[in-house]
Amino acid sequence: MNIEAQKILRKYWGHPHFRDSQETIIEAALNGQDVLGLLPTGGGKSICFQVPAMMQEGICIVISPLIALIQNQVSSLKNMGIKAIGLTGGLSFEDINNLLDNCIYGNYKFLYLSPERLQQEIVQDRIRQMNVNLFVVDEAHCISQWGHDFRPAYLKCEIIRELHPEIPIMALTATATTKVAKDIINSLRLQDPLVKRDSFSRKNIAFKVDKNEDKNYRLIQYCKALKKSAIVYVRTRRTTEELNRYLSAHGISSAFYHGGLTEKNKKSTLAKWLNNEVRVMVATNAFGMGIDKADVELVVHYQIPDCIENYYQEAGRAGRNGEAAQAIVLTNKADQEQVKRQFLSVLPDVAFVKLVYNKLNNFFQIAYGEGSDTKYQLNFNEFCSVYKLNAMLTYNALKILDQNSVIALSESFARKSSIQFIISKDVLLDYMNNNRSVRDCVKLILRTYGGIFEFETKINTFSLAKKLNLPEKAVIENLEVLATDGIIDYKASHSDLEVTFLMAREDDHTINRFANIIKEQNLLKKYQVQQMLSYINTDTVCRSRQLLLYFGEKQTTACGKCDVCLAKNEDLSSTDGLKIMVKTLLATGGLSSRDLQQQLDCSPNMLMHVLKELLEEGEIMLNSKNEYEITL
Ligand code: ADP
Ligand code: MG
Repeated sequence: MNIEAQKILRKYWGHPHFRDSQETIIEAALNGQDVLGLLPTGGGKSICFQVPAMMQEGICIVISPLIALIQNQVSSLKNMGIKAIGLTGGLSFEDINNLLDNCIYGNYKFLYLSPERLQQEIVQDRIRQMNVNLFVVDEAHCISQWGHDFRPAYLKCEIIRELHPEIPIMALTATATTKVAKDIINSLRLQDPLVKRDSFSRKNIAFKVDKNEDKNYRLIQYCKALKKSAIVYVRTRRTTEELNRYLSAHGISSAFYHGGLTEKNKKSTLAKWLNNEVRVMVATNAFGMGIDKADVELVVHYQIPDCIENYYQEAGRAGRNGEAAQAIVLTNKADQEQVKRQFLSVLPDVAFVKLVYNKLNNFFQIAYGEGSDTKYQLNFNEFCSVYKLNAMLTYNALKILDQNSVIALSESFARKSSIQFIISKDVLLDYMNNNRSVRDCVKLILRTYGGIFEFETKINTFSLAKKLNLPEKAVIENLEVLATDGIIDYKASHSDLEVTFLMAREDDHTINRFANIIKEQNLLKKYQVQQMLSYINTDTVCRSRQLLLYFGEKQTTACGKCDVCLAKNEDLSSTDGLKIMVKTLLATGGLSSRDLQQQLDCSPNMLMHVLKELLEEGEIMLNSKNEYEITL
């Protein structure tokens, strides 16, 4: 046991012990060995690099895909008194220059950056000058197009090997399929890496699929039986609100959460749930990052998720405390059709991505060859209505542009809000005397916007914030206070996306560079939805076994508590059972019939029969090595 490592863990994090593989991984990093760590979500991957970085001189460089993830980790390090920097979007050259200087001379312990930032020459030059103790590629599955979050910019992360050839690289992910693991090792050129895989098994969770035509009724039943907390995942913001209303109307203590809420609202809603003031959180997948409540007893998916990776991650928020918990997909016949419609009919093809990119440039009046490194607020609904674009398709097209580093997309808060004072000037003066915190803001508004007592007036929270020398968030919070206190009518606009252009506009050329990726990713998405539907429809293989097989865990046993096990329905030698086993095994890479036979408990004849059927159905094919593979 490494005493020093444990001291650091206790001192900064206050955790008494390491979990599962953490210590082995830390040892390897300290010995200068490359590592691939495949640990489930919530498994504690951050500790694996943060502890060894704290034990050594120099700085640890972490590549992470999302601004939100970076901000989250940097701020929690800072809260522990550890010096950390995040190179997120919208920084001027000057800013970057200063921040990088701090990394060289300022005793900083962590530098977080996106793969796009890593490509900048100034960044690479400075990293060469830094005393780096460890490189980390977090969410490393983004490297693989077989992962569920492929980001081509991740392929260029291999540059870190050249910047400091002698410094170890640690790649971490919660996506453990064999294909993805191979891609990570190859792409980062990991040398003789320690590959450490913790089981993804969650023995205390009963995974269930509940097919019921009256989903609302069933949901109420589940919620009424609750002793602790629950999360109900739905797909749209609107559904969170509707379902929350429905549950409340039936006496269930609930709240809703989605990406469109203000920061303040998100915080207070989350706090209520964490304090058990409300039991059931109805949420979109925006309810995820940093949510670490131990006593979640139930996670219901009220709508079908788009892939097993996301499903397992969300379902895994149940039972963190090790006590019995349930993860239920609640579904009816219409859902399966809807999921196909929702995911498959809204996959934008290359032509549509080109169209959206073109319109986006026009919308912001960006000329050919220009626009690189500029940032805009996008009123998404307005954008779609101006160009008569389908909202889902368009949103997915923007996501593709983001994924391929043409733009960086992030959720932001409203900038163009409108307000009107609904009290007399005398009352307002009185109010201002008693509420000093909002006084400056109100004064400035009165000075800036005439007629605001008579008319609803558009205000610019961004410029108000600048003049007040406050963050924009603070201004918005002031407005919310004024609205709650009945001083103003306040309408926040829906410009909830922030777009940073990362490349100069080159119309179709920009898109042609990754046209193939779009096509392949669309095929992969179809396959992933099929796998999800297959999970829902296969009731002859233990649910837990199905899920673990998907992640490449082969030595699994029946869980004894899922709906299949409870109904004593498991029959691995049934044609259906075998089919799912074969497909799941193949999902992690090609296998010969002999490999398959070794891993399946069935007669050779039966296996051949099933393989033949799968070939005929076009589900699998034989590759040049005479192995069976999934057809994409
Ligand atoms: P991952 O990146 O694998 O999803 P995180 O690194 O974000 O997981 O950690 C998830 C949670 O587990 C955090 O709240 C973290 O503090 C906690 N955690 C990590 N390691 C330990 C440990 N050894 N003991 C107790 N809690 C831990
Ligand atoms: Mg993590």
